[in-house]
Amino acid sequence: MASGCFRSRFDPRVTVGVCVIDDVQGRVFADGYTRGHSQPRTHRGHDAKFPGMAITYALMQRLEELVESDPQRVQIIKKARVTKVNKEGNKVTGVSYEFGGEECSIDGVVVLATGGYAADFGDTSLLKKHRPDTFDLASTNGTHATGDGLKMLMEIGGNGIDLDKVQVHPTGLVDPKDPDSKWKFLAAEGVYS
Ligand SMILES: Cc1cc2nc3c(=O)[nH]c(=O)nc-3n(C[C@H](O)[C@H](O)[C@H](O)COP(=O)(O)OP(=O)(O)OC[C@H]3O[C@@H](n4cnc5c(N)ncnc54)[C@H](O)[C@@H]3O)c2cc1C
Repeated sequence: MASGCFRSRFDPRVTVGVCVIDDVQGRVFADGYTRGHSQPRTHRGHDAKFPGMAITYALMQRLEELVESDPQRVQIIKKARVTKVNKEGNKVTGVSYEFGGEECSIDGVVVLATGGYAADFGDTSLLKKHRPDTFDLASTNGTHATGDGLKMLMEIGGNGIDLDKVQVHPTGLVDPKDPDSKWKFLAAEGVYS
């Protein structure tokens, strides 16, 4: 980690991101409040990039460097859809996935990072099950947020926790060409703070 990296008082996960970005691109973010925060947990970029974008780009850049420099260790498979977490007994052994119309599998340590389920409007919707009051609202989530990883883990005996904790944001931008669209663009806290 870079020498300029600091430990957050309030969210160690964010601090890791800050340290990494500082390490990779020499950028540091300041703490701040926005609406509804009881603690300062907003990081702002020093340049024009949104902090989330800056952090994500820096991590992707570093990962792509590792693919080049250490291909035995790091490989990226794009456009793959993970369908199942495989296990033997109580031990997770890898995942199955669809790639180019084929069923594939790979063994090894699994870290699932498939995001949330607030755009899960299908028959097996976790949103419908745990927050039916929000099911008919528009969503500002990406269409990928269908809870795939959660469902895969539940299929092999995992328990979900806090699945009713879904944030409902009060403001969104309506596309005048498609006002009834289920998908809206978030009008974030900056609009009213
Ligand atoms: C409109 C909006 C604004 C936000 N603003 C902020 C903000 O200002 N600050 C902040 O801190 N947070 C913000 N958030 C929250 C933040 O974006 C999320 O908490 C964060 O992106 C979640 O990261 P993640 O890696 O868990 O999931 P994601 O970023 O959702 O990534 C999940 C990835 O998994 C992939 N995936 C899903 N299923 C599969 C599958 N079966 N096989 C293979 N790949 C799969 C998806 O394609 C996606 O690339 C915002 C969220 C939204 C929707």
